[in-house]
Amino acid sequence: MNAEAGPRPPLIALDGLRKHYGGRGGAPAVEVLRGVSLRIEAGEFVAIVGASGSGKSTLMHLLGCLDRPSAGTYRFDGRDVAMLDADELARLRREAFGFVFQGYHLIATESAQENVEVPAIYAGQPEAARHARSQALLDRLGLGDRLGHRPHQLSGGQQQRVSIARALMNGGRVILADEPTGALDSKSGAEVMALLEELADAGHTVVIITHDREVAAAARRVVEIRDGLVVADSARAAPPRSAARAQVEPAGESRGPSLSTELRDACRAAWRVMWINRFRTSLTLLGIVIGVASVIVMLAVGLGARHQVVAQASAFGANLLYMSSVGASSRIPGRSVTLADLQAVGDLPLLSHVLPNVTGNKVVRFGEKDLQTYVRGTGAAMPEVQSWPVRLGGFFSAEDDRDLAAVAVLGHKLARDLMPEVPNPVGRRILIENMPFQVVGVMAEKGAAAGDQSYDDLLLMPFSTAGVKVFGQREPTYTAMAVREGASVDAAEKAVDELMFERHGIRDYRIGNAAAAIAAKARTEDTMTLLLGLIAAVSLLVGGIGVMNVMLMTVRERTREIGIRMATGARRSDILRQFLTEAVLVSVVGGSAGVLIGLAIGAGLIVAGVPLIFSLRAIAGAFVCATATGLVFGFMPARQAAGLDPVVALSSE
Ligand code: ADP
Ligand code: MG
Repeated sequence: MNAEAGPRPPLIALDGLRKHYGGRGGAPAVEVLRGVSLRIEAGEFVAIVGASGSGKSTLMHLLGCLDRPSAGTYRFDGRDVAMLDADELARLRREAFGFVFQGYHLIATESAQENVEVPAIYAGQPEAARHARSQALLDRLGLGDRLGHRPHQLSGGQQQRVSIARALMNGGRVILADEPTGALDSKSGAEVMALLEELADAGHTVVIITHDREVAAAARRVVEIRDGLVVADSARAAPPRSAARAQVEPAGESRGPSLSTELRDACRAAWRVMWINRFRTSLTLLGIVIGVASVIVMLAVGLGARHQVVAQASAFGANLLYMSSVGASSRIPGRSVTLADLQAVGDLPLLSHVLPNVTGNKVVRFGEKDLQTYVRGTGAAMPEVQSWPVRLGGFFSAEDDRDLAAVAVLGHKLARDLMPEVPNPVGRRILIENMPFQVVGVMAEKGAAAGDQSYDDLLLMPFSTAGVKVFGQREPTYTAMAVREGASVDAAEKAVDELMFERHGIRDYRIGNAAAAIAAKARTEDTMTLLLGLIAAVSLLVGGIGVMNVMLMTVRERTREIGIRMATGARRSDILRQFLTEAVLVSVVGGSAGVLIGLAIGAGLIVAGVPLIFSLRAIAGAFVCATATGLVFGFMPARQAAGLDPVVALSSE
């Protein structure tokens, strides 16, 4: 009371501080602190002693604003900390307090220097200043040659000195040390105590907690606590000499972490965690990698197929009708579509050409070479009707057809395969089923445009010749009809159907048109693309769930690290951002790997002759989806991490 009345309030003032645990859900409440009142002036070196379980750690958590009391007030520098929100408490922790724990509580994945720098990162200290200060502190504590060592590469005493350096990083006005020598051998323990004494001499307020009276004896004031109450306080006998002490200068003005620094730090930490758990991470990533890669490849395949269908449409000519015989009568000569039918159909004004075709596989021989090939007997107007030009020589004529001339026109590839040594096959003799034919022409390459390589394997000859000499059938296998320029394909189809029905009395023929067939095929391709895309999307979803799973695991494994970060001044938003960064980084790495693998698979398929068209939009879309997946599925685990209670997080194993 008298201290509060003075012009300068004590640094720490506790009044009737109580803390109980439980008490809800039927369990009896455990009253750990039962009204602690205590004043600590700036610059004091106080030891709080008590038996194990007497509530010392609980008291320290309250002093360090890691926990809130159940009742009573705590004024720090005259300010009631109960009025501060979570972020303000975090700020107070990183500006005023430095914690030293019995178990050191260093972040296992970071080096000594990085551990020391954690509080400065949350305080927003610039990188260069941070490095300089952490190095100077570690130098001063005799660890100048251990900067890059990870905690497990250091002895207990060294780890404790790293944690003291961390406590000093942001100035460490108040050093709160909970059993700092508890895990150390007596020599290291003595060194740590000497260090704390030195800090007290330098003006830091040092509060150590111990169950060991010998350790406590090193302090200038000893407060004894038993069963949650202060039972003895040497200050009552010897008042503190705080006024004589130098004030500790704050090391860095705390502007709060700058976004870029913290983001960079979060990325670095995330990368390290990923690398340490690289096997697990890569397994998790598989989902995203497969998802992204398949989205890219599937869409490229779909696009390629569609493009091909469109190319086919123009190669076939969209103005063609096809007719063939079907049903019971299709095999009976005279009942199926006959030449007489075609004669009649040819008179329809809507049609410009009627091309009967007869087709089948036959053996073609040139010199010593035999080839099984697809032979098509067709009309002389075929090149015009199917917009398929002749490359060498010429096409057979209508007279050839009438005269049953033994002439043949070779497809581009057939010519090459049958007579590789012959530059110009025109005029050569070939045998078809042992009948001599004369080659009169070679067709231009069609397959590339039509998307169907078999076009170039074709052997063409006059319809009549093929029917009479080669296949022994007068009826066409199928008939192609070209619709007159400007006329409607549908109207022409209807006219042909009416005429044929009139002649046959039944529909023992089928009429189709290329445009409709191609449109149907394009629709099928679109459906396929949609289906494949759906599968890809599902695997992306599975990948997202994998990310969430691994992040939940990470949060559980690193609960203590989260506690350490909170104790050193991280706000909830900092923790949230860090874990979200990790999730997104995982997904970005997965997405990038997926893009690369997708492109590689696509390249392989292109080499294998599959027509693929990569779409930049699909690639970018898949990548963005993967990143968004990380953001969405990482949010829940990150929020879980940020919502942890600092004390609970710290005491987790
Ligand atoms: P000390 O550090 O003096 O050994 P602690 O402050 O750690 O003692 O604990 C004091 C008492 O409070 C112990 O009996 C312990 O069981 C109890 N306690 C500490 N934390 C909790 C908690 N989160 N829930 C319930 N009881 C707790
Ligand atoms: Mg304890």
